[in-house]
Amino acid sequence: MQLKPVAPDVFQLQGFPPNMVNVYLAEQLLIDGGTRFDAPAILRTLAGQQIRAHLLTHVHPDHQGASHALCTALHIPLWCGAADAAAMQAGDMDRQFTSPSNPIVRAINAFWTGPAHPVSRILHEDDQVGSFTVIESPGHTRGHLAFWREADRLLILGDAANNMNMLSALPGLHETPAIFTTDRAQSRASLRKLAALQPATSCFGHGPVLRDGEAFARWVAQLPHE
Ligand SMILES: [Zn+2]
Repeated sequence: MQLKPVAPDVFQLQGFPPNMVNVYLAEQLLIDGGTRFDAPAILRTLAGQQIRAHLLTHVHPDHQGASHALCTALHIPLWCGAADAAAMQAGDMDRQFTSPSNPIVRAINAFWTGPAHPVSRILHEDDQVGSFTVIESPGHTRGHLAFWREADRLLILGDAANNMNMLSALPGLHETPAIFTTDRAQSRASLRKLAALQPATSCFGHGPVLRDGEAFARWVAQLPHE
């Protein structure tokens, strides 16, 4: 894994396969934590970096899997959205309804979910973290967050959308798979809210960084209204 520069003081932890499960280091904030198998590689990649806190866009196991290990090793607090905090603190995705309940999701959760870890701070709409603004963007999970830096119009949007086909791994904008998405109408409303910010650079949980703001806007505009 290596630190790949995205923008001033924003890095993507580039692993293999590239862009599959993304972790970002933004202004000393570690945003998302990969799967529970990723902690050693993430810690090696972050060696020597100053890190203030670990933030989650949402608590699915491919984002919170290594969070307990990372917060413990780096002595940093964990921050996330209000409606996702209980699942993180319980280390239990199923009982906290972070996805629609079905056997596939339950099997994935059983295998991938990372250990529980206390949430030190609940992030709310318009909170400032560094020079980023917290944007509540529920739908994929109820507590999903995005992080917006107005100065260079940079958006870290987690799984509000994917910039990769999650089956073929080919790049391209897609809505998140239905089996992992709590409320589709809400996730579309959140995407319209995020597109209204007119991001120039969009950093996804899955898929490459997108530097074509118009392509993102066009894609969001064609999503069905419900
Ligand atoms: Zn994800």
